[in-house]
Amino acid sequence: MKKDSRRLLEWYERNKRSLPWRNQKDAYRIWVSEIMLQQTRVETVLNYYERFLDRFPSVESLAAADPDEVRAAWSGLGYYRRARFMLEAAKAVVSEHAGEFPNTLLGLRALPGFGRYTAGAVASIAFDLPAPAVDGNAARVITRWRGIREDPSRGEGERVVWAEAERLAKAGPAAEITQALIELGATVCLPRNPSCTRCPWRSSCVAHRDQLISLIPAKKKRAPKKTVELTALVVLDERDRVLLLEQPDSGLFGGLYTPPLLEGHLSPRRSRSTARNELGLELGELAPGGQLRHILTHRELELHLFRTRLVGRAPAGLRPVSLGRLHELGIPTITSRVLEQALPEAMIEGLVLPSRRSAALATRRRSS
Ligand code: SF4
Repeated sequence: MKKDSRRLLEWYERNKRSLPWRNQKDAYRIWVSEIMLQQTRVETVLNYYERFLDRFPSVESLAAADPDEVRAAWSGLGYYRRARFMLEAAKAVVSEHAGEFPNTLLGLRALPGFGRYTAGAVASIAFDLPAPAVDGNAARVITRWRGIREDPSRGEGERVVWAEAERLAKAGPAAEITQALIELGATVCLPRNPSCTRCPWRSSCVAHRDQLISLIPAKKKRAPKKTVELTALVVLDERDRVLLLEQPDSGLFGGLYTPPLLEGHLSPRRSRSTARNELGLELGELAPGGQLRHILTHRELELHLFRTRLVGRAPAGLRPVSLGRLHELGIPTITSRVLEQALPEAMIEGLVLPSRRSAALATRRRSS
């Protein structure tokens, strides 16, 4: 173990990527990076990290922020529950810990949104506590290195992997060990075709020795994705503002703004009556806006789009938003896609959307 630890640390020192959240001990900045990196690629996070910290440079500034502002800063990163938990955790750090992150694993685990991984990562990287932090990258490295055949995300496999990570963290230094394991998984021990010739553990790795790399880690059994059909209404008022609905916290796109989404593939007549009954929304003629497929982690959405005009006043619960001010709200990618597809070409020019993809698209359309 000692020799492997040393080799890993030497490899990390020579090969670690230069990333803005590296080489620091600020728990707040480390925490922001760890939350952003969950389920999200490093290249994507690089576009958000500094901008988020410019806007919320301290845990106090985040705790005092308006939820809409936080959602807007998060727009395009996906998994929006993370932004909600961050706001809650920031408030808890300020109100219960005088603005200082707890420097114990138990204290961190008690904060909203701090699961086993996040608490271990902040504890080890910011406070040098000998706490393990196993993400997907670290789990892949450890299972292959030790030849663990069980699924590392549950049961016995999970227990053994975390125990190995804990032994490594205890051998220390924990901050470097945590980051080195993740870095090795992200850059060398890749899911397919790992670069074993560049690996500091190739002489002790069981999967490499026994040619088990394609079998380890054990594949998760995924339930097939469910397809959900929705009817999306792009409703404009008399000032060409689009009506958006804040989705309930517990549901799909919780806490974010989307056009009204009605269950099922509805005809124009059914869409109008459902919008009236469920949202108190009176609509004019409905023009078809096409279809789009949107893939989420656990389901696929099949959206049928209509474009229409508001008749009378906007009901409570629906917010009229100028196309040039959409970036100020928490807008999921689905909203950008629906608007880009359903709005008339002339109005696309006025769209200011938060996601880079949308901005690029809007620019392309402007210049074409
Ligand atoms: S030797 Fe290959 S399979 Fe084993 S940990 Fe290194 S990169 Fe992964």
